[in-house]
Amino acid sequence: MKENNRFDSLELRAELLENLALIDYHKMTLIQEKSLPLILGGKDVVARAKTGSGKTAAFGLGALNSINPGVSRVQALVLCPTRELATQVTSEIRRLAKKIPNVRVLSLCGGSPLGPQIASLERGAHIVVGTPGRTLKHLEKNTLKLQALTTLVLDEADRMLDMGFSEEIDVLLDYVPRRRQTLLFSATYPEAIEQMSARIQHKPSFVDVTELEMPAEIEHHWVPVKRENRTQELLAALECWGGTLNMVFCNTKRECAEIAEVLNDAGIPALAIHGDLEQFERTKTLIQFANQSVSVLVATDVAARGLDIGKVDVVFNYELPGQPEVYVHRTGRTGRAGRTGRAISLVTEHESRSLVAIQDHLPGMQIEKSEPTKVSGKSELLLSSMGTIEINGGRRDKLRPGDLLGAVTASGEIPGSAVGKIDVLETKTFIAIDKRNVSRVVEILNASPIKGKPFRARSLHGAGRRPTPWEVASHSSSKGKLKRNRGLFGGVRHGA
Ligand code: ADP
Ligand code: MG
Repeated sequence: MKENNRFDSLELRAELLENLALIDYHKMTLIQEKSLPLILGGKDVVARAKTGSGKTAAFGLGALNSINPGVSRVQALVLCPTRELATQVTSEIRRLAKKIPNVRVLSLCGGSPLGPQIASLERGAHIVVGTPGRTLKHLEKNTLKLQALTTLVLDEADRMLDMGFSEEIDVLLDYVPRRRQTLLFSATYPEAIEQMSARIQHKPSFVDVTELEMPAEIEHHWVPVKRENRTQELLAALECWGGTLNMVFCNTKRECAEIAEVLNDAGIPALAIHGDLEQFERTKTLIQFANQSVSVLVATDVAARGLDIGKVDVVFNYELPGQPEVYVHRTGRTGRAGRTGRAISLVTEHESRSLVAIQDHLPGMQIEKSEPTKVSGKSELLLSSMGTIEINGGRRDKLRPGDLLGAVTASGEIPGSAVGKIDVLETKTFIAIDKRNVSRVVEILNASPIKGKPFRARSLHGAGRRPTPWEVASHSSSKGKLKRNRGLFGGVRHGA
């Protein structure tokens, strides 16, 4: 179990650690966990994380850890785009600094009179938080001196650029020592930030946790299960919560294949995707999922990584992953088109520690305990309304989607509304057809040439249909359902 997200795993001064416990900061947020070791190591850092992820404490602790309270000079400067933000950052840093005696944090913003700010500066400050305009003004008047500066922070750097502060920041840099630590915090990373980083930072390290952060629009549930009932519980959960497109994550390839088989046996069209599949099989699997011929994709993390599946309706964790980040990755697949996503995890007593770790790591997220309600019959959504037909021709044969749509609907027997997604690959084409019309469409396509050329068409099975004895016999050398899906056109590699 990962435990490196505790603040006391860091080289922080004792007063800071003591105070963090007092203000109930026990675990680091993701951005803190990834950036603080670098910041405390003196590196220049570009850190990217969403709003509310705890960026202030990341640079605030960095600044507070390196200042010398005995020296009454400005040692850290934090630039913020607006007065409100500068005020917030000032109070958060003061809160973090509470246990270090005599640390002064000063805010310099426009809209307040200069006189009192100058008086405060004369009394001495260790950390200044300001907006670029007002900070520059004090530098030009020589009421603010930054010769002793060691840390420069640009908070919400993207917004500062959007607000046109780029020039002021450049001028301001003339007043800052060259040897310094520069930290750049931003919620987005446009090219302008990249250029700014190149200009003002020295060999920066990049930390980006935006992908790992939990979007708010996902409902998280966990279902208590017994190890020996896990598969039955998955079926119940799918029947209760499943949508049109579902992903089930397993920790091993073997489980993937087994679960897909169990689901198909239960009449739920499912396919497994794991690292052992050939590229063409993977493509074919994804096509059948995307065109809604199968409602469940059973995947390992490795196989799912980098797959362009788009968003699904529900993510099921057949087992919890060992690492919280993996949980975030998996469940980040849900939340289709502005709809609330759903993540359902089956958890045995033995795995409750993983659940706690995931929950701890993601304070903004609540995983609720739930039990599937009994539903009579399977949901229509889960049964998939489509089937896929494979045709042994593609781009190489100059086939285009319109040609196939034409061929299917030419006789008037099959309405256009029965035709779904058409994927034309180099040497193959896949057409989704309303399930009720699949066998008829196969006959039509095999009987009529397309663009003057005859093609072979066949229905893909695997999705909720047991292979016919003929299919089994013709593939007698291969074992298991996955291999049986290999295809009518032989075991050759296809140029997909
Ligand atoms: P950001 O700048 O990324 O938008 P903030 O720094 O404003 O986020 O932090 C958001 C909230 O989270 C604040 O209320 C802050 O006090 C709180 N917070 C930050 N770090 C922690 C932590 N490690 N534990 C608990 N709460 C934290
Ligand atoms: Mg912030």
